[in-house]
Amino acid sequence: MKKLLKEKHFCNNISTYDYNFMLQKGRGWKSKILFVGESPSSGGWIVSGKAFYNTENKLVPSGIKINKLFEKFNLKIEDCSFTELCKCFVNGNREKIKSCCSKCWPLFLKQLNIIKPKIIIILGKKTLDIFNENNRSNFEMGIFSDWCIKNHKVFILPIFHPSPINPRSYKLNENILNNCFLGLKKQLKLLYEK
Ligand SMILES: [Zn+2]
Repeated sequence: MKKLLKEKHFCNNISTYDYNFMLQKGRGWKSKILFVGESPSSGGWIVSGKAFYNTENKLVPSGIKINKLFEKFNLKIEDCSFTELCKCFVNGNREKIKSCCSKCWPLFLKQLNIIKPKIIIILGKKTLDIFNENNRSNFEMGIFSDWCIKNHKVFILPIFHPSPINPRSYKLNENILNNCFLGLKKQLKLLYEK
């Protein structure tokens, strides 16, 4: 029998949380690369404290796929920063995600202003839609583009969610990364040399 889990909401008093709430800070220059998901799942990093790791300290399938995809850029999820638009655990209650994301948006902006990422990788079409809605922007899936947060220039790359429930995503993401290979490599080189 599936264990019933309780939803957990932080969105109603989001302004009381510090910037490091539900944020994995990466290591060294790679901390400037921020992966952004939609909302935490049960048994994931919300309890393990490590993005894409479960409580047994094992990298979950989505994390394995991310690392495989970004291998040619010498990037691993463990070294990069990670957060989610929605800080609440909604336990699959998709109807709530949108409103939770809007309420959590100020904390997400606070996190961006403090860690000042140079590259943001948005994971999944739904995450991208919510991002665009709250940001009033039109970033497109697979298109490497630039954005400005308070005079701070950031590159955005939305990719498909690497989850195994979306088996086509790996191939699609490979194409995306091949298409923006040079642009992404160039920005990573600039970050590394800084
Ligand atoms: Zn909420």
